[in-house]
Amino acid sequence: MRQLTEHIYGILRYGGNLNYYVIVNGDAVTVVDIGLSEKDVDILEKSLTQIGRSLDDVRYVLITHAHPDHIGGLPALQQRTNAHTMIHRLDAPVLRGEQPVSLPKTEDLPFFSRLIAPFVKDSVPAARVDSELNDGDVLDEILPGLRVVHLPGHSYGQVGYWLEAERLLIGGDVMMRILGRLRMPLRPASPDWETCKRSIGKVADMDVDKLLLGHGKPIMQKAEVEIRELAEKQGV
Ligand SMILES: [Zn+2]
Ligand SMILES: [Zn+2]
Repeated sequence: MRQLTEHIYGILRYGGNLNYYVIVNGDAVTVVDIGLSEKDVDILEKSLTQIGRSLDDVRYVLITHAHPDHIGGLPALQQRTNAHTMIHRLDAPVLRGEQPVSLPKTEDLPFFSRLIAPFVKDSVPAARVDSELNDGDVLDEILPGLRVVHLPGHSYGQVGYWLEAERLLIGGDVMMRILGRLRMPLRPASPDWETCKRSIGKVADMDVDKLLLGHGKPIMQKAEVEIRELAEKQGV
């Protein structure tokens, strides 16, 4: 586990290609996303030991969106802790197992994305939702000033968690950083491509300094330069 700021740590797996984050605020430990499977809960447990904490200290779980690579470990984490789980209200039914993952229609995809589409999963392991979030909610109990920013498109309830004082965004899959460059999210997993672009435009207007994504190494300063480049390329 790598310490990124005073309160935030990153668990950066596969060389930063699959990430989740830990927020430590006094006694309260919060996990933001929890990887692919139960194995990620073991990895989390070991990582917490490095900073003198344990799974018992995990009080909250924030989910950026209900895709299997972000919530795969959640059922196991809920079994092993009493952590309170929060997700945007539009992704909550997916997490509860009441709705399938929303995917684009294959015929709307460009050729290359069509080839990948059959490999994108349309279900996630069901888990408990304790609170449904809305755009603008402030989660002072997790970290003073931490705000929910709705950044839909890649999923209908995809959110970022924004710490304005540090200009830091935990962005989920609003964009990805693959091979050292910011890119659009995975198209065959994103049900609304135009809205994906608008969300990138929204992030470009936020003047983000530190950007912590689900896929790609964190950018720890001047992220806005790369974000604006991507937004301009997409015409947003
Ligand atoms: Zn995703
Ligand atoms: Zn992802």
